[in-house]
Amino acid sequence: MKDWNNLDADENLILTTHMTKGRQGRKIDKIVLHHNGGNLTGKGCYDVWQTREASAHYQVASDGRITQLVWDTDTAWHAGDWNANLTSIGVEHADVSSDPWRISDVTLDNGAHLVAALCKRYGLGRPQWGVNVFPHSHFSATACPASIAGGQRAAYMAKAQAYYDSMTGSHPATGSSPAANTGGVNVVAGAYVVACDALNVRSAPSTGAKVVASYKRGQTVNLDHWGAIADGYIWGRYTAYSGAIRYIALAPADKSVWYLALKK
Ligand SMILES: [Zn+2]
Repeated sequence: MKDWNNLDADENLILTTHMTKGRQGRKIDKIVLHHNGGNLTGKGCYDVWQTREASAHYQVASDGRITQLVWDTDTAWHAGDWNANLTSIGVEHADVSSDPWRISDVTLDNGAHLVAALCKRYGLGRPQWGVNVFPHSHFSATACPASIAGGQRAAYMAKAQAYYDSMTGSHPATGSSPAANTGGVNVVAGAYVVACDALNVRSAPSTGAKVVASYKRGQTVNLDHWGAIADGYIWGRYTAYSGAIRYIALAPADKSVWYLALKK
């Protein structure tokens, strides 16, 4: 994954067939897990789904590489149940052995991380089996997802929960953020008013990150609870209308001045 917080996959190979545009007004409330019944790459899935009436949103290959094949905002054909398709994200996993079926450690790790990132993004809560994470077999008469619902289930879900805790806790997620090795801070979620003449909005919590917007004194920004200290500043963040996560400095690390004031 290029960016877990933004759900930016290593590769996008978007299908134009065997999926449905939009979600017919339904909301995402679950993740459905699958196994390939083979060892496919993202391109391998893409090729199979050109002629098979099936699709899924993501494929996690045996090397951990993640491919997006259907955008989250569209409906993939994976659960064998239309209602479940409309309300879920389908995640496929490559097998590295067939007798018994088994996914690789790196596939398990990246699949679980993806589940955590999806639960966070769509507000599904901590990953829990049968609550917001389901096996394909819950919706159809199938043995899918094999080991992920069997011998590898406990390890998979433990990792998904650990990643979720790390991504939503006071400490920022490891992996993609420049703030990963800095101390986490708690930011009070809510509306803030810009209390300086101009305040840059950046693509990451770092003074070296790209400036993507700028706020002027008196403008309002809605921050979530996430916070981190990096490059000598306390950073907060918000989700832009595009869905991208944006970062903004609240104050220098010594809190000598506040650039943002919590709206009363
Ligand atoms: Zn399946």
